Amino acid sequence: MGWFSRKQAAPRRRAVWGIRREALDLIIEAARSQHPREFGATLRAERGVITEVVLTPGTIAGDAHTFINYHLLPTDPSIVGTIHSHPSPWAHPSDADRQVFSSFGHTHIIIAHPYDEESWLAYDHGGQRVELEVVDE
Ligand code: ZN
Repeated sequence: MGWFSRKQAAPRRRAVWGIRREALDLIIEAARSQHPREFGATLRAERGVITEVVLTPGTIAGDAHTFINYHLLPTDPSIVGTIHSHPSPWAHPSDADRQVFSSFGHTHIIIAHPYDEESWLAYDHGGQRVELEVVDE
Protein backbone atom coordinates (compact mmCIF):
# COMPACT_ATOMS: atom_id res chain seq x y z
CA MET A 1 0.00 0.00 0.00
CA GLY A 2 2.84 2.33 0.96
CA TRP A 3 4.61 2.08 -2.36
CA PHE A 4 1.37 2.71 -4.19
CA SER A 5 0.53 5.95 -2.40
CA ARG A 6 4.10 7.15 -2.77
CA LYS A 7 3.86 6.52 -6.47
CA GLN A 8 0.56 8.40 -6.61
CA ALA A 9 2.01 11.39 -4.78
CA ALA A 10 5.16 11.64 -6.90
CA PRO A 11 5.05 14.76 -9.08
CA ARG A 12 5.15 13.86 -12.72
CA ARG A 13 7.75 15.85 -14.60
CA ARG A 14 6.56 17.36 -17.87
CA ALA A 15 8.27 16.37 -21.11
CA VAL A 16 9.61 19.94 -21.12
CA TRP A 17 10.41 21.22 -17.63
CA GLY A 18 13.09 23.88 -18.11
CA ILE A 19 14.57 26.64 -20.19
CA ARG A 20 18.23 27.38 -20.60
CA ARG A 21 19.13 30.84 -19.27
CA GLU A 22 20.82 31.65 -22.59
CA ALA A 23 17.54 31.06 -24.45
CA LEU A 24 15.59 33.18 -21.95
CA ASP A 25 18.12 36.02 -22.32
CA LEU A 26 17.71 35.87 -26.08
CA ILE A 27 13.92 36.04 -25.73
CA ILE A 28 14.21 39.07 -23.43
CA GLU A 29 16.57 40.80 -25.84
CA ALA A 30 14.42 40.07 -28.90
CA ALA A 31 11.20 41.20 -27.18
CA ARG A 32 12.84 44.46 -26.08
CA SER A 33 14.23 45.18 -29.53
CA GLN A 34 10.81 44.60 -31.18
CA HIS A 35 8.85 46.71 -28.68
CA PRO A 36 6.20 48.09 -29.15
CA ARG A 37 5.79 45.51 -31.89
CA GLU A 38 5.40 41.88 -30.94
CA PHE A 39 8.06 39.24 -31.25
CA GLY A 40 7.23 35.63 -32.13
CA ALA A 41 9.24 32.48 -32.72
CA THR A 42 9.25 28.76 -32.03
CA LEU A 43 11.10 26.91 -29.29
CA ARG A 44 13.43 23.95 -29.58
CA ALA A 45 14.07 21.63 -26.64
CA GLU A 46 16.65 18.98 -25.91
CA ARG A 47 16.19 16.41 -23.13
CA GLY A 48 13.37 18.39 -21.54
CA VAL A 49 15.02 21.80 -21.61
CA ILE A 50 14.31 24.63 -24.08
CA THR A 51 17.67 25.39 -25.63
CA GLU A 52 16.94 27.45 -28.71
CA VAL A 53 14.67 30.15 -30.11
CA VAL A 54 13.97 29.41 -33.77
CA LEU A 55 12.65 32.02 -36.19
CA THR A 56 10.50 30.47 -38.88
CA PRO A 57 9.12 31.86 -42.13
CA GLY A 58 5.62 31.41 -40.69
CA THR A 59 6.26 33.86 -37.89
CA ILE A 60 5.15 37.40 -38.51
CA ALA A 61 5.86 40.19 -36.08
CA GLY A 62 3.58 43.18 -36.53
CA ASP A 63 1.87 46.06 -34.79
CA ALA A 64 -1.20 43.93 -34.26
CA HIS A 65 -1.11 40.63 -32.42
CA THR A 66 1.67 38.34 -33.53
CA PHE A 67 0.29 35.75 -35.84
CA ILE A 68 2.02 32.41 -35.91
CA ASN A 69 1.11 30.38 -38.93
CA TYR A 70 1.51 26.92 -37.50
CA HIS A 71 0.70 25.30 -40.85
CA LEU A 72 4.06 26.53 -42.11
CA LEU A 73 6.00 25.31 -39.10
CA PRO A 74 8.49 22.52 -39.71
CA THR A 75 7.42 19.06 -38.62
CA ASP A 76 10.45 18.86 -36.38
CA PRO A 77 9.87 16.90 -33.18
CA SER A 78 12.45 18.99 -31.32
CA ILE A 79 10.25 22.08 -31.85
CA VAL A 80 8.02 21.99 -28.77
CA GLY A 81 6.01 25.20 -28.97
CA THR A 82 6.04 28.95 -29.40
CA ILE A 83 7.20 32.16 -27.74
CA HIS A 84 5.69 35.57 -28.31
CA SER A 85 5.72 38.92 -26.61
CA HIS A 86 2.91 41.15 -25.37
CA PRO A 87 3.63 44.89 -25.33
CA SER A 88 1.20 45.11 -22.39
CA PRO A 89 2.01 44.04 -18.80
CA TRP A 90 -0.24 40.96 -19.19
CA ALA A 91 1.37 37.63 -20.03
CA HIS A 92 -1.99 35.92 -20.36
CA PRO A 93 -3.08 34.17 -23.55
CA SER A 94 -5.71 35.76 -25.78
CA ASP A 95 -8.29 33.63 -27.58
CA ALA A 96 -6.05 33.69 -30.65
CA ASP A 97 -3.10 32.55 -28.53
CA ARG A 98 -5.13 29.66 -27.12
CA GLN A 99 -6.02 28.67 -30.67
CA VAL A 100 -2.32 28.48 -31.58
CA PHE A 101 -1.44 26.65 -28.35
CA SER A 102 -4.05 23.96 -28.97
CA SER A 103 -3.00 23.54 -32.60
CA PHE A 104 0.73 23.24 -32.24
CA GLY A 105 3.23 21.89 -29.74
CA HIS A 106 2.80 21.57 -25.97
CA THR A 107 4.94 24.27 -24.33
CA HIS A 108 4.34 27.95 -25.00
CA ILE A 109 5.79 31.12 -23.49
CA ILE A 110 4.37 34.64 -23.36
CA ILE A 111 6.66 37.42 -22.21
CA ALA A 112 5.04 40.73 -21.27
CA HIS A 113 6.41 44.24 -20.95
CA PRO A 114 8.90 45.17 -19.41
CA TYR A 115 10.40 41.89 -20.71
CA ASP A 116 12.48 40.69 -17.80
CA GLU A 117 13.07 37.47 -15.83
CA GLU A 118 9.83 38.02 -13.92
CA SER A 119 7.49 39.03 -16.73
CA TRP A 120 6.98 35.74 -18.56
CA LEU A 121 4.68 32.78 -18.12
CA ALA A 122 4.53 29.34 -19.72
CA TYR A 123 1.45 27.39 -20.81
CA ASP A 124 0.58 23.93 -22.06
CA HIS A 125 -1.48 23.09 -25.15
CA GLY A 126 -4.70 23.69 -23.19
CA GLY A 127 -3.64 27.18 -22.09
CA GLN A 128 -2.97 26.01 -18.50
CA ARG A 129 0.00 27.51 -16.66
CA VAL A 130 3.11 25.34 -16.40
CA GLU A 131 6.30 25.99 -14.46
CA LEU A 132 9.58 26.12 -16.33
CA GLU A 133 12.80 26.05 -14.38
CA VAL A 134 15.57 28.38 -15.60
CA VAL A 135 18.61 26.19 -16.11
CA ASP A 136 22.18 27.47 -15.99
CA GLU A 137 24.45 25.31 -18.09
ZN1 ZN B 1 -0.59 36.81 -27.29
